[in-house]
Amino acid sequence: SKTINVIGAGLAGCEAAYQIAKRGVKVKLFEMKPHKYSPAHHSENFAELVCSNSLRSDQLENAVGLLKEELRLMDSLILKAADATRVPAGGALAVDREGFSEYITNAIKNMENIEIIYGEQERIPDDNITIVATGPLTSEAMFNHIRELIGEDYLHFFDAAAPIVTFDSINMDKAFKAARYGKGSEDYINCPMNKEEYEIFYNALISAELAEVKEFEKNMVFEGCMPIESMASRGKDTMRYGPLKPVGLMDPRTDVKPYAVVQLRQDNKNGTLYNIVGFQTHLKWPEQKRVFRLIPGLENAEFVRYGVMHRNTYINSPKLLDNTYKLKSRDNIYFAGQITGVEGYIESTASGFVAGINACAKCLNKENIVFPANTSIGALSHYISDSSVKNFQPMNVNFGLFNGVDTSIRDKRKRNSQIAQKSLEIVEYIYNNYEK
Ligand code: FAD
Repeated sequence: SKTINVIGAGLAGCEAAYQIAKRGVKVKLFEMKPHKYSPAHHSENFAELVCSNSLRSDQLENAVGLLKEELRLMDSLILKAADATRVPAGGALAVDREGFSEYITNAIKNMENIEIIYGEQERIPDDNITIVATGPLTSEAMFNHIRELIGEDYLHFFDAAAPIVTFDSINMDKAFKAARYGKGSEDYINCPMNKEEYEIFYNALISAELAEVKEFEKNMVFEGCMPIESMASRGKDTMRYGPLKPVGLMDPRTDVKPYAVVQLRQDNKNGTLYNIVGFQTHLKWPEQKRVFRLIPGLENAEFVRYGVMHRNTYINSPKLLDNTYKLKSRDNIYFAGQITGVEGYIESTASGFVAGINACAKCLNKENIVFPANTSIGALSHYISDSSVKNFQPMNVNFGLFNGVDTSIRDKRKRNSQIAQKSLEIVEYIYNNYEK
């Protein structure tokens, strides 16, 4: 009978295995724990939350809250576990860590169609369809195997990225569009600073609180990309000779050359997201918000992604995957979870869901099930498979990734709640049609 291999019993792997097994296809689920642990995993149970016990917002006006509701509508195992083990956390969905993993482990172990195979899997099996869901800390042997399969330029083990803000939240009364020396017309958004503003920003930056560096990350090379706060600590003017250099830029409102300029570069095709050039950073997330909002024009910036510098295995999905998380070059290999460049517990779950049901559909010779980019689950699969994305960076789901947002509605809560309502209708329609 038909079988699908799932490698890795994390959040993505468990969701995928559950979705496949409940549709009558057999699953071989490979998990290296408890024989071998990544540097961040410690529990014998599946779907271990390696850090926070919060799965973030549970509000529909937030893209990850909406994603949760979409997954609930479609009988997600991870969401069932989360709802059954939730602990009070205001507008967020937080869970009892042990109870959550136990719930999922028991559910998986009790499913007739799932066979669990313990031990490190060093390569993708040759038989059956396989979903690779080995996570941000994929074991070394599997890492090397994937590298051989897709080429070393397409597999990353370190994530060093600058924060991304929404275009909507940038104050264009202060910032202006231009490229240095007028080259490429208006490619960048520029935030000009005078001497005083620069000094306030500089002082806040060099005294800001840094995130903790994990033991296994201490010896990581930074591949020639220095955190902005390290650059600042070299001297007061170092940034002004680096990414904040004001040369070739005039403030069109004053016709004065600024003392320093922070540049933002368009990050997606729609132009809804911008990254802050050269701002990869180790700063704690609340500190990033506090310090980077001192930049003129970014007073109210909405951060859809904070800067990070950490170990993270991920593939260049836009070059490699289609919107069902299948490898374009192979008909029997899917990827799911953080390794695809989605970021976070729920995003990993969502990708496991989509990869799972589509691998299952392929196995049963049924049609793909694809969600459009005006749903949260679809926006995410669209982002990882959008071949026009050049500098691919792992990302949490956010409304900036959605298509068809009505920006004429200025009240953001209202706008988001309208997106959410529409999205849930679409997901319900597609899912019910598919299940028929
Ligand atoms: P995982 O949940 O990591 O699952 C992968 C599974 O595959 C593991 O069980 C592993 O043992 C197994 N495996 C690996 N290699 C093999 C192999 N060769 N053979 C067999 N099994 C294998 N996200 C958040 O949303 N909030 C956070 O607070 C957060 N903190 C994080 C902290 C750290 C240190 C790291 C590394 C990541 C953090 N993340 C956080 C991201 C988080 O890892 C993902 O959101 C989520 O766990 C990814 O799910 P996954 O299923 O892709 O991988």
